[in-house]
Amino acid sequence: MVFDRPEQNRSSAIAAGLFNPITGKLMSKTWQADHLFPELDFFYRNAEQILDQRFYYPQSLYRPFLSVEEQNAWMGKSSEATWMPYIEKIYSQGVFTHQVNNPWGGIVLSQCGYVDVPKFMKSVSDYLAKRNSIVFEKFDEQLIHNPHEGIRYKDFESTKIIYCTGTEALNSKTGMDLPIRKLKGETLTIEMDEDPELIYNRGVYIVPYKEKQYRVGATYETKNLSGEITAEARMELDQKLMELIKIPYRITAQDWGFRPTTPDRRPILGSMSDSKNVVIFNGLGTKGVSLAPYFSAQLCDWLIGVGKIQPEVNITRFKSLSSKSSVVV
Ligand SMILES: Cc1cc2nc3c(=O)[nH]c(=O)nc-3n(C[C@H](O)[C@H](O)[C@H](O)COP(=O)(O)OP(=O)(O)OC[C@H]3O[C@@H](n4cnc5c(N)ncnc54)[C@H](O)[C@@H]3O)c2cc1C
Repeated sequence: MVFDRPEQNRSSAIAAGLFNPITGKLMSKTWQADHLFPELDFFYRNAEQILDQRFYYPQSLYRPFLSVEEQNAWMGKSSEATWMPYIEKIYSQGVFTHQVNNPWGGIVLSQCGYVDVPKFMKSVSDYLAKRNSIVFEKFDEQLIHNPHEGIRYKDFESTKIIYCTGTEALNSKTGMDLPIRKLKGETLTIEMDEDPELIYNRGVYIVPYKEKQYRVGATYETKNLSGEITAEARMELDQKLMELIKIPYRITAQDWGFRPTTPDRRPILGSMSDSKNVVIFNGLGTKGVSLAPYFSAQLCDWLIGVGKIQPEVNITRFKSLSSKSSVVV
């Protein structure tokens, strides 16, 4: 039985849904990329079939180089086994020059694309609703009975409860002090008359959204955590977008959300040591689309006793949490 309040969702509902194995200013390979990316491709294709909906869009991504040095470095890396699966092509001179600023050329990355996350979530909740397996209401932890044996909640009985509550975990009243930190992000929606040839990504990404509309993101704000859009974020995204593309655009909307991040930027999986039937799946941070398929499978295997949770994501790495005694009242 799933409990959710979709109208309260300020992370998955806002996400542009991009997945990309080479990220950041330094263009580093995503942690565990060799496992995550094959798994996500299998997962979303399979989900499309089961749910009979389309929300998975594999698409190449183009990152212009910032200097000739960067271009040289990537020419060298392109023959290394660790990078080869993710490199489609390298350009040493500008391409798509009618659309994008790229005087030193750039790199076309494979195993990228985007998931239409709101459509995916709606498809899943429709599927669950047809089977009477979802309730759209707040799950009130204070109404749980017998957390150390089976779990009773209202008319429901269960052997386990899995909390996937994102940044709402911070409002838990039952001593579940997960080290989740809010990382605010803002996006712009823009309209363009011309479709970009690929997903362009340098400083900002431009991801298809609706007919002629694109999501541009995102900002990373740790200090000003106000629950609203800001003029500063709009200016930052607009500026970076002007540096990246030449296609004329109009800003039509702006949005904000909070990513559930952790101090070591790894997800948190597993059970609280004093309440083995209370299970956590959180900390997806900036990469929920690529992390969720692999780590939800890992959690499921562990739940049915056929696999382990790897140490880097296991909740036991936060010693103070795993030895806490008052997890659930
Ligand atoms: C601006 C922005 C852009 C982003 N872009 C990308 C991107 O391009 N690619 C990417 O991979 N990731 C992106 N992310 C990150 C991604 O959104 C997160 O990693 C992911 O959404 C986290 O999912 P989650 O299910 O853990 O949390 P959430 O999406 O927050 O889901 C938690 C759910 O639990 C519900 N809930 C909580 N408590 C209760 C309760 N007591 N009772 C009932 N329901 C409850 C909430 O209502 C919510 O629906 C972006 C995030 C932001 C903010």
